[in-house]
Amino acid sequence: MTNYKNSSNHRPKLLLHVCCAVCALYPTSLLSKDFEITLFFYNPNIHPRKEYNKRLESVKIISKKYSIPLIIDRYELRKWFRLTENYKFEPEGGKRCSICFDIRLKRTAAAAKKLKFDLFGTTLTVSPHKNKDIINSIGTAIAANKKLKFYSADFKKKNGFKKTMNTAKKINIYRQNYCGCIYSLHKLV
Ligand code: SF4
Repeated sequence: MTNYKNSSNHRPKLLLHVCCAVCALYPTSLLSKDFEITLFFYNPNIHPRKEYNKRLESVKIISKKYSIPLIIDRYELRKWFRLTENYKFEPEGGKRCSICFDIRLKRTAAAAKKLKFDLFGTTLTVSPHKNKDIINSIGTAIAANKKLKFYSADFKKKNGFKKTMNTAKKINIYRQNYCGCIYSLHKLV
């Protein structure tokens, strides 16, 4: 793994995109040892709005519970539909998902740059349904373009998904049963 620490031994500031509270639990417990984390919630892929609000409220709960600052960005629903409209019937893991990762990571990178974070990352790879190579290559390309650093990870390793689910059950946090977009909700994918 890349060593992100600098010579002054301070904990680098990491802006961590979170897709939901469940996926944030294990990655934040792991990363908080080495990084000063701020959570970043930008998920225009979550539909309908009621579900978006539910997931956001759960992220607010863990932010408060574990004293991790949280930045909430806009709910850019129209933009998400415009950028993915040609890929409605793609299976999960296909082209629509790559665009969905790109939309969210680009926004995270822009915020990281503006707010002078040392690096940015995402909790997305904790899910067994998400391809870490695709996510990490998208994050790395965005970082290179913006002259930033991306934290490449595979949080599902070492039973990461099981650990995050166990903690979610223990603290009784909301656990959704579909990925997020309307297509995954209606099992079109
Ligand atoms: S299935 Fe999940 S990752 Fe894929 S487009 Fe829908 S919300 Fe995004």
